[in-house]
Amino acid sequence: MQKNLVHYGKHLVAIFKSVAYAYRSEEFHRNFTALQVLKPTAHRHLFDVGEHRWARSKCLVRPSSFMTSNAAESLNSHLLWARCLPICSLLECYRSIVEKWFDERHVSVIGISHQLTEKTALKLQVAVETGCHLIVCGTTTHMFTVEQENKSYVVDLQNLTCECKEFELDGIPCRHVCAAIRRVGLQVTDFVAKYFHQSSLMGTYLPHIRIVPHTLFDRPISWDGK
Ligand SMILES: [Zn+2]
Repeated sequence: MQKNLVHYGKHLVAIFKSVAYAYRSEEFHRNFTALQVLKPTAHRHLFDVGEHRWARSKCLVRPSSFMTSNAAESLNSHLLWARCLPICSLLECYRSIVEKWFDERHVSVIGISHQLTEKTALKLQVAVETGCHLIVCGTTTHMFTVEQENKSYVVDLQNLTCECKEFELDGIPCRHVCAAIRRVGLQVTDFVAKYFHQSSLMGTYLPHIRIVPHTLFDRPISWDGK
């Protein structure tokens, strides 16, 4: 989406990013209105596409802040040479490369010494460090108000929400949640969504990619296509 807007200029792209990556609805609407004033045609285009397709705050499922490459495009770029093969041989090429990727990632996950994936651990560390100086108020065991730069954010550790919305959308405690967790003396890693844990990553790459049965290949298959 961003690349489609490049011809409108850098300033508009910057505003688009502020709209797309906004966590809170108020921030989204404020920046989207600014974009509309600057370039009504771009605003109409983005609106027609559907805000839920490109805006974090409007996403219908819980999004992730981590960008991943498109698996289909990765497969195609690796196996351009195999497109001319008969269908069974082509399927075996796809199967083999997915198996190879699974194996590589499984080995790399085994090497992770900590509880969380590397990017998650780094993001959480930043949140813990920036949250350790915030003032936390609250009289219950799970509801707190956290002060940051003259703004107050309500944190609910029971329902796993924070008013800044980062915790709900990312699945990783924001600085306010980290401050509240510190107050009650719990472990921040226990509040990270399960899919960011090393055990989940390990489970993702465990399944065996089964071979296509009884396949007669026209020629031996190698990774470099020779
Ligand atoms: Zn927060």
